[in-house]
Amino acid sequence: MGKKHLPAHLNHIAWNRKILNVFWVVIFVSVCVEVINSCFTSRPLEEFIKMYIVLPTTLLIFMVSLAEWSFKKKIKYIDYIIIWTASMFSAILISVHYEMYVLYTSLFFPMLISTIYFKKKKVWLSFALSTLTYLLLSTFHPVLKTMNDLMDQISMICILLTSTAICVGIMSRGYEMAKELNKAQADHQDLMVKSTIMEKQVKTDALTGLYNHMAFYEYMDVLLLQAETYHYPVHLAVMDIDNFKKINDTYGHGIGDIVLKRIAKAIKDNVTTDDFVARYGGEEFVVILNDISEEEAFTLLEKVRLVIQRLEHPEVKEEHITISTGLQTYRRGMHKQAFFEGADNSLYVAKRQGKNRVITEGYSEAIHI
Ligand code: GH3
Ligand code: MG
Ligand code: MG
Repeated sequence: MGKKHLPAHLNHIAWNRKILNVFWVVIFVSVCVEVINSCFTSRPLEEFIKMYIVLPTTLLIFMVSLAEWSFKKKIKYIDYIIIWTASMFSAILISVHYEMYVLYTSLFFPMLISTIYFKKKKVWLSFALSTLTYLLLSTFHPVLKTMNDLMDQISMICILLTSTAICVGIMSRGYEMAKELNKAQADHQDLMVKSTIMEKQVKTDALTGLYNHMAFYEYMDVLLLQAETYHYPVHLAVMDIDNFKKINDTYGHGIGDIVLKRIAKAIKDNVTTDDFVARYGGEEFVVILNDISEEEAFTLLEKVRLVIQRLEHPEVKEEHITISTGLQTYRRGMHKQAFFEGADNSLYVAKRQGKNRVITEGYSEAIHI
Protein backbone atom coordinates (compact mmCIF):
# COMPACT_ATOMS: atom_id res chain seq x y z
CA MET A 1 0.00 0.00 0.00
CA GLY A 2 1.39 3.44 -0.94
CA LYS A 3 1.97 6.03 1.78
CA LYS A 4 -0.63 8.26 0.14
CA HIS A 5 -3.30 5.79 1.19
CA LEU A 6 -2.24 5.55 4.82
CA PRO A 7 -4.68 6.91 7.39
CA ALA A 8 -3.86 10.47 8.50
CA HIS A 9 -2.54 9.49 11.95
CA LEU A 10 -0.14 6.93 10.44
CA ASN A 11 1.15 9.53 8.00
CA HIS A 12 1.67 11.79 10.99
CA ILE A 13 3.77 9.12 12.74
CA ALA A 14 5.82 8.64 9.58
CA TRP A 15 6.53 12.39 9.42
CA ASN A 16 7.61 12.55 13.04
CA ARG A 17 10.00 9.69 12.30
CA LYS A 18 11.44 11.64 9.38
CA ILE A 19 11.88 14.77 11.49
CA LEU A 20 13.69 12.79 14.20
CA ASN A 21 15.94 11.29 11.53
CA VAL A 22 16.77 14.79 10.31
CA PHE A 23 17.71 15.78 13.86
CA TRP A 24 20.18 12.88 14.03
CA VAL A 25 21.64 13.81 10.63
CA VAL A 26 22.09 17.43 11.72
CA ILE A 27 23.92 16.29 14.87
CA PHE A 28 26.19 14.11 12.78
CA VAL A 29 26.91 16.87 10.24
CA SER A 30 27.61 19.45 12.98
CA VAL A 31 30.10 17.07 14.60
CA CYS A 32 31.81 16.52 11.25
CA VAL A 33 32.01 20.27 10.61
CA GLU A 34 33.49 20.88 14.05
CA VAL A 35 36.03 18.08 13.62
CA ILE A 36 37.18 19.72 10.38
CA ASN A 37 37.16 23.13 12.14
CA SER A 38 39.33 21.74 14.89
CA CYS A 39 42.15 21.34 12.34
CA PHE A 40 42.16 25.07 11.67
CA THR A 41 41.36 26.56 15.04
CA SER A 42 43.78 28.82 16.88
CA ARG A 43 42.33 27.76 20.23
CA PRO A 44 43.82 24.97 22.32
CA LEU A 45 42.56 21.70 20.81
CA GLU A 46 41.35 20.29 24.10
CA GLU A 47 39.27 23.37 24.86
CA PHE A 48 37.91 23.40 21.31
CA ILE A 49 36.84 19.76 21.48
CA LYS A 50 35.17 20.30 24.85
CA MET A 51 33.43 23.56 23.95
CA TYR A 52 32.44 22.91 20.33
CA ILE A 53 32.10 19.15 20.07
CA VAL A 54 31.55 17.35 23.37
CA LEU A 55 29.32 19.85 25.17
CA PRO A 56 26.91 20.79 22.35
CA THR A 57 26.80 17.24 20.96
CA THR A 58 25.99 15.78 24.37
CA LEU A 59 23.22 18.32 24.85
CA LEU A 60 21.84 17.73 21.38
CA ILE A 61 21.94 13.94 21.75
CA PHE A 62 20.17 14.26 25.09
CA MET A 63 17.42 16.45 23.60
CA VAL A 64 16.86 14.23 20.57
CA SER A 65 16.98 11.05 22.68
CA LEU A 66 14.26 12.51 24.87
CA ALA A 67 12.15 13.21 21.78
CA GLU A 68 12.96 9.75 20.46
CA TRP A 69 11.82 8.16 23.74
CA SER A 70 8.56 10.16 23.66
CA PHE A 71 8.05 9.03 20.07
CA LYS A 72 8.58 5.36 20.95
CA LYS A 73 6.27 5.64 23.97
CA LYS A 74 3.64 7.18 21.68
CA ILE A 75 3.27 10.16 23.99
CA LYS A 76 0.24 12.23 23.03
CA TYR A 77 2.14 15.53 22.89
CA ILE A 78 4.95 14.23 20.70
CA ASP A 79 4.37 17.01 18.11
CA TYR A 80 4.94 19.65 20.79
CA ILE A 81 7.97 17.79 22.10
CA ILE A 82 9.46 17.74 18.60
CA ILE A 83 8.79 21.46 18.15
CA TRP A 84 10.39 22.15 21.51
CA THR A 85 13.39 19.96 20.58
CA ALA A 86 13.81 21.98 17.37
CA SER A 87 13.74 25.13 19.44
CA MET A 88 16.36 23.80 21.85
CA PHE A 89 18.38 22.66 18.86
CA SER A 90 18.63 26.18 17.51
CA ALA A 91 19.27 27.58 21.03
CA ILE A 92 22.25 25.23 21.47
CA LEU A 93 23.63 25.86 17.99
CA ILE A 94 23.39 29.65 18.34
CA SER A 95 24.77 29.84 21.88
CA VAL A 96 27.77 27.64 21.08
CA HIS A 97 28.56 29.11 17.69
CA TYR A 98 27.54 32.67 18.60
CA GLU A 99 30.02 34.14 16.17
CA MET A 100 28.31 32.40 13.21
CA TYR A 101 25.42 34.75 12.36
CA VAL A 102 24.14 32.34 9.76
CA LEU A 103 23.05 29.98 12.53
CA TYR A 104 20.30 32.40 13.53
CA THR A 105 18.41 30.91 10.59
CA SER A 106 17.97 27.79 12.74
CA LEU A 107 15.33 29.80 14.62
CA PHE A 108 13.08 29.07 11.64
CA PHE A 109 13.28 25.30 12.26
CA PRO A 110 10.35 25.08 14.72
CA MET A 111 8.00 27.04 12.40
CA LEU A 112 9.02 25.03 9.37
CA ILE A 113 8.59 21.75 11.22
CA SER A 114 5.19 22.70 12.60
CA THR A 115 4.03 23.59 9.08
CA ILE A 116 4.26 19.86 8.38
CA TYR A 117 1.61 19.24 11.06
CA PHE A 118 -0.77 21.58 9.28
CA LYS A 119 -1.98 23.22 12.47
CA LYS A 120 -1.86 27.02 12.72
CA LYS A 121 -1.82 26.81 16.52
CA LYS A 122 1.44 24.85 16.39
CA VAL A 123 3.05 27.33 13.99
CA TRP A 124 2.23 30.27 16.26
CA LEU A 125 3.51 28.34 19.25
CA SER A 126 6.75 27.72 17.36
CA PHE A 127 6.99 31.43 16.64
CA ALA A 128 6.59 32.15 20.37
CA LEU A 129 9.30 29.61 21.23
CA SER A 130 11.76 30.95 18.64
CA THR A 131 11.16 34.55 19.75
CA LEU A 132 11.65 33.57 23.39
CA THR A 133 14.83 31.64 22.52
CA TYR A 134 16.20 34.65 20.68
CA LEU A 135 15.27 37.14 23.39
CA LEU A 136 16.70 34.94 26.16
CA LEU A 137 19.94 34.45 24.24
CA SER A 138 20.32 38.10 23.34
CA THR A 139 19.60 39.11 26.94
CA PHE A 140 21.49 36.53 28.99
CA HIS A 141 24.16 34.97 26.74
CA PRO A 142 27.52 36.42 27.90
CA VAL A 143 28.63 37.30 24.36
CA LEU A 144 25.39 37.61 22.43
CA LYS A 145 23.99 40.21 24.83
CA THR A 146 26.76 42.53 23.76
CA MET A 147 26.17 41.85 20.05
CA ASN A 148 22.41 42.44 19.75
CA ASP A 149 21.00 45.90 20.33
CA LEU A 150 17.31 46.81 20.43
CA MET A 151 17.13 47.39 16.67
CA ASP A 152 18.59 43.92 16.02
CA GLN A 153 16.02 42.40 18.34
CA ILE A 154 13.08 44.23 16.73
CA SER A 155 14.33 43.31 13.23
CA MET A 156 14.75 39.66 14.22
CA ILE A 157 11.28 39.44 15.71
CA CYS A 158 9.84 41.08 12.56
CA ILE A 159 11.61 38.50 10.38
CA LEU A 160 10.38 35.64 12.57
CA LEU A 161 6.87 37.08 12.46
CA THR A 162 6.94 37.45 8.67
CA SER A 163 8.19 33.92 8.14
CA THR A 164 5.52 32.58 10.51
CA ALA A 165 2.87 34.48 8.54
CA ILE A 166 4.24 32.89 5.35
CA CYS A 167 4.05 29.41 6.93
CA VAL A 168 0.45 30.08 7.95
CA GLY A 169 -0.27 31.35 4.41
CA ILE A 170 1.16 28.16 2.91
CA MET A 171 -1.05 26.15 5.24
CA SER A 172 -4.16 28.14 4.32
CA ARG A 173 -3.43 27.46 0.66
CA GLY A 174 -3.04 23.79 1.59
CA TYR A 175 -6.44 23.82 3.34
CA GLU A 176 -7.98 25.35 0.22
CA MET A 177 -6.46 22.68 -1.99
CA ALA A 178 -7.50 19.88 0.37
CA LYS A 179 -11.05 21.27 0.34
CA GLU A 180 -11.08 21.37 -3.46
CA LEU A 181 -9.68 17.85 -3.56
CA ASN A 182 -12.31 16.58 -1.12
CA LYS A 183 -15.04 18.20 -3.16
CA ALA A 184 -13.69 16.71 -6.38
CA GLN A 185 -13.52 13.31 -4.69
CA ALA A 186 -17.09 13.62 -3.37
CA ASP A 187 -18.30 14.68 -6.84
CA HIS A 188 -16.48 11.75 -8.37
CA GLN A 189 -18.05 9.32 -5.92
CA ASP A 190 -21.45 10.83 -6.54
CA LEU A 191 -20.94 10.38 -10.26
CA MET A 192 -19.81 6.79 -9.79
CA VAL A 193 -22.92 5.99 -7.75
CA LYS A 194 -25.15 7.67 -10.34
CA SER A 195 -23.47 5.91 -13.22
CA THR A 196 -23.77 2.54 -11.42
CA ILE A 197 -27.47 3.16 -10.83
CA MET A 198 -27.94 4.27 -14.42
CA GLU A 199 -26.02 1.29 -15.73
CA LYS A 200 -28.30 -0.98 -13.72
CA GLN A 201 -31.37 0.89 -14.95
CA VAL A 202 -30.24 0.60 -18.55
CA LYS A 203 -29.90 -3.17 -18.16
CA THR A 204 -33.05 -3.76 -16.14
CA ASP A 205 -36.60 -4.24 -17.25
CA ALA A 206 -38.76 -1.76 -15.35
CA LEU A 207 -41.85 -3.96 -14.98
CA THR A 208 -40.34 -7.26 -13.85
CA GLY A 209 -36.97 -6.18 -12.47
CA LEU A 210 -35.29 -8.83 -14.62
CA TYR A 211 -32.48 -8.08 -17.07
CA ASN A 212 -33.69 -6.67 -20.36
CA HIS A 213 -33.18 -7.59 -24.01
CA MET A 214 -29.96 -5.57 -24.31
CA ALA A 215 -28.41 -7.06 -21.16
CA PHE A 216 -29.30 -10.53 -22.43
CA TYR A 217 -27.35 -10.10 -25.67
CA GLU A 218 -24.41 -8.54 -23.83
CA TYR A 219 -24.30 -11.45 -21.40
CA MET A 220 -24.75 -14.05 -24.09
CA ASP A 221 -21.81 -12.65 -26.10
CA VAL A 222 -19.51 -12.90 -23.07
CA LEU A 223 -20.77 -16.31 -22.04
CA LEU A 224 -20.47 -17.88 -25.49
CA LEU A 225 -16.92 -16.61 -25.76
CA GLN A 226 -16.10 -18.25 -22.42
CA ALA A 227 -17.92 -21.44 -23.38
CA GLU A 228 -15.84 -21.63 -26.58
CA THR A 229 -12.63 -21.10 -24.61
CA TYR A 230 -13.29 -23.34 -21.61
CA HIS A 231 -15.69 -25.84 -23.22
CA TYR A 232 -18.39 -25.86 -20.61
CA PRO A 233 -22.02 -26.49 -21.52
CA VAL A 234 -24.39 -23.57 -22.11
CA HIS A 235 -28.12 -23.78 -22.79
CA LEU A 236 -30.67 -21.23 -23.84
CA ALA A 237 -34.34 -21.39 -22.96
CA VAL A 238 -36.90 -19.11 -24.60
CA MET A 239 -40.22 -18.99 -22.73
CA ASP A 240 -43.54 -17.53 -23.74
CA ILE A 241 -46.72 -17.29 -21.67
CA ASP A 242 -49.54 -19.25 -23.23
CA ASN A 243 -52.67 -17.42 -24.39
CA PHE A 244 -51.64 -14.22 -22.68
CA LYS A 245 -53.54 -12.04 -25.12
CA LYS A 246 -56.73 -13.55 -23.71
CA ILE A 247 -55.76 -12.52 -20.16
CA ASN A 248 -55.18 -8.97 -21.31
CA ASP A 249 -58.37 -8.88 -23.35
CA THR A 250 -60.47 -10.29 -20.52
CA TYR A 251 -59.01 -8.58 -17.47
CA GLY A 252 -57.15 -5.60 -18.89
CA HIS A 253 -53.47 -4.72 -19.11
CA GLY A 254 -53.19 -3.86 -15.41
CA ILE A 255 -54.07 -7.42 -14.34
CA GLY A 256 -51.95 -8.71 -17.25
CA ASP A 257 -48.99 -6.83 -15.78
CA ILE A 258 -49.55 -8.36 -12.33
CA VAL A 259 -49.61 -11.88 -13.80
CA LEU A 260 -46.55 -11.11 -15.92
CA LYS A 261 -44.62 -9.94 -12.85
CA ARG A 262 -45.63 -12.98 -10.83
CA ILE A 263 -44.50 -15.34 -13.57
CA ALA A 264 -41.22 -13.43 -14.00
CA LYS A 265 -40.56 -13.81 -10.26
CA ALA A 266 -41.38 -17.49 -10.34
CA ILE A 267 -38.88 -18.07 -13.16
CA LYS A 268 -36.19 -16.12 -11.32
CA ASP A 269 -36.86 -17.90 -8.02
CA ASN A 270 -36.78 -21.37 -9.51
CA VAL A 271 -33.56 -21.31 -11.48
CA THR A 272 -30.17 -21.27 -9.78
CA THR A 273 -28.12 -18.17 -8.99
CA ASP A 274 -25.71 -19.20 -11.76
CA ASP A 275 -28.47 -18.83 -14.33
CA PHE A 276 -29.25 -15.63 -16.16
CA VAL A 277 -32.88 -14.61 -16.55
CA ALA A 278 -34.07 -11.76 -18.77
CA ARG A 279 -37.32 -10.46 -20.17
CA TYR A 280 -36.77 -10.73 -23.89
CA GLY A 281 -39.81 -8.61 -24.71
CA GLY A 282 -43.60 -8.68 -24.27
CA GLU A 283 -44.43 -11.85 -22.32
CA GLU A 284 -41.33 -13.71 -23.47
CA PHE A 285 -38.42 -14.60 -21.22
CA VAL A 286 -34.99 -16.05 -21.81
CA VAL A 287 -32.90 -18.11 -19.41
CA ILE A 288 -29.24 -18.92 -19.96
CA LEU A 289 -28.18 -22.00 -18.02
CA ASN A 290 -24.55 -22.86 -17.76
CA ASP A 291 -22.30 -25.62 -16.52
CA ILE A 292 -25.04 -28.26 -16.32
CA SER A 293 -25.88 -31.12 -18.68
CA GLU A 294 -28.66 -30.98 -21.26
CA GLU A 295 -30.74 -33.38 -19.16
CA GLU A 296 -30.29 -31.26 -16.05
CA ALA A 297 -31.27 -28.15 -18.00
CA PHE A 298 -34.38 -29.86 -19.27
CA THR A 299 -35.31 -31.08 -15.79
CA LEU A 300 -34.85 -27.61 -14.34
CA LEU A 301 -37.05 -26.03 -17.00
CA GLU A 302 -39.70 -28.68 -16.47
CA LYS A 303 -39.67 -27.79 -12.78
CA VAL A 304 -40.14 -24.10 -13.67
CA ARG A 305 -42.98 -24.99 -16.03
CA LEU A 306 -44.76 -26.94 -13.28
CA VAL A 307 -44.24 -24.24 -10.67
CA ILE A 308 -45.78 -21.70 -13.04
CA GLN A 309 -48.66 -23.98 -13.91
CA ARG A 310 -49.43 -24.31 -10.19
CA LEU A 311 -49.15 -20.60 -9.44
CA GLU A 312 -52.29 -19.05 -8.08
CA HIS A 313 -53.56 -15.85 -9.65
CA PRO A 314 -56.44 -14.51 -7.50
CA GLU A 315 -57.05 -11.71 -10.05
CA VAL A 316 -58.05 -14.10 -12.86
CA LYS A 317 -60.65 -16.85 -13.04
CA GLU A 318 -58.65 -19.09 -15.38
CA GLU A 319 -57.57 -22.24 -13.63
CA HIS A 320 -53.98 -22.15 -14.80
CA ILE A 321 -51.68 -19.86 -16.66
CA THR A 322 -48.90 -21.79 -18.33
CA ILE A 323 -45.74 -21.24 -20.28
CA SER A 324 -44.14 -22.94 -23.26
CA THR A 325 -40.36 -23.29 -23.43
CA GLY A 326 -37.93 -23.93 -26.26
CA LEU A 327 -34.51 -25.21 -25.19
CA GLN A 328 -31.31 -25.20 -27.21
CA THR A 329 -27.91 -26.46 -26.15
CA TYR A 330 -24.90 -24.56 -27.45
CA ARG A 331 -22.76 -26.59 -29.84
CA ARG A 332 -19.15 -25.61 -30.46
CA GLY A 333 -18.72 -23.11 -33.29
CA MET A 334 -22.43 -22.31 -33.36
CA HIS A 335 -23.33 -18.74 -34.33
CA LYS A 336 -25.23 -16.92 -31.61
CA GLN A 337 -28.08 -16.27 -34.04
CA ALA A 338 -28.38 -20.01 -34.75
CA PHE A 339 -28.26 -20.64 -31.01
CA PHE A 340 -31.18 -18.31 -30.42
CA GLU A 341 -33.12 -19.54 -33.45
CA GLY A 342 -32.72 -23.13 -32.24
CA ALA A 343 -34.41 -22.27 -28.95
CA ASP A 344 -37.05 -20.14 -30.69
CA ASN A 345 -37.87 -22.92 -33.14
CA SER A 346 -38.31 -25.36 -30.26
CA LEU A 347 -40.64 -22.83 -28.63
CA TYR A 348 -42.63 -22.72 -31.85
CA VAL A 349 -42.83 -26.53 -31.81
CA ALA A 350 -43.97 -26.41 -28.16
CA LYS A 351 -46.78 -24.03 -29.07
CA ARG A 352 -47.78 -26.13 -32.06
CA GLN A 353 -47.83 -29.32 -30.02
CA GLY A 354 -50.35 -27.88 -27.57
CA LYS A 355 -48.40 -25.41 -25.32
CA ASN A 356 -47.43 -25.86 -21.64
CA ARG A 357 -44.37 -27.91 -22.42
CA VAL A 358 -40.60 -27.80 -22.80
CA ILE A 359 -39.25 -28.77 -26.18
CA THR A 360 -35.65 -29.54 -26.94
CA GLU A 361 -33.90 -31.72 -29.49
CA GLY A 362 -34.52 -35.29 -28.37
CA TYR A 363 -36.25 -34.84 -25.01
CA SER A 364 -39.53 -33.24 -25.90
CA GLU A 365 -41.97 -36.12 -26.23
CA ALA A 366 -40.39 -38.53 -23.78
CA ILE A 367 -40.25 -36.30 -20.72
CA HIS A 368 -43.33 -34.13 -21.16
CA ILE A 369 -45.66 -34.55 -18.20
P1 GH3 B 1 -49.45 -17.84 -27.45
O1 GH3 B 1 -49.86 -18.86 -26.51
O2 GH3 B 1 -49.38 -18.28 -28.83
O3 GH3 B 1 -48.17 -17.17 -27.00
O4 GH3 B 1 -50.58 -16.75 -27.38
P2 GH3 B 1 -50.51 -15.31 -26.81
O5 GH3 B 1 -51.89 -14.81 -26.64
O6 GH3 B 1 -49.66 -15.26 -25.61
O7 GH3 B 1 -49.85 -14.62 -28.02
P3 GH3 B 1 -48.61 -13.69 -28.04
O8 GH3 B 1 -47.54 -14.31 -27.32
O9 GH3 B 1 -48.36 -13.38 -29.48
O10 GH3 B 1 -49.18 -12.39 -27.34
C1 GH3 B 1 -48.45 -11.60 -26.50
C2 GH3 B 1 -49.38 -10.66 -25.81
O11 GH3 B 1 -48.75 -10.21 -24.67
C3 GH3 B 1 -49.71 -9.44 -26.64
C4 GH3 B 1 -49.62 -8.29 -25.67
O12 GH3 B 1 -50.89 -7.71 -25.50
C5 GH3 B 1 -49.22 -8.93 -24.39
N1 GH3 B 1 -48.16 -8.18 -23.75
C6 GH3 B 1 -46.91 -7.96 -24.20
N2 GH3 B 1 -46.22 -7.20 -23.32
C7 GH3 B 1 -47.06 -6.94 -22.30
C8 GH3 B 1 -46.96 -6.21 -21.09
O13 GH3 B 1 -45.93 -5.61 -20.75
N3 GH3 B 1 -48.03 -6.15 -20.27
C9 GH3 B 1 -49.20 -6.77 -20.59
N4 GH3 B 1 -50.21 -6.70 -19.74
N5 GH3 B 1 -49.34 -7.46 -21.73
C10 GH3 B 1 -48.29 -7.55 -22.57
MG1 MG C 1 -47.69 -15.82 -25.56
MG1 MG D 1 -45.32 -13.82 -27.18
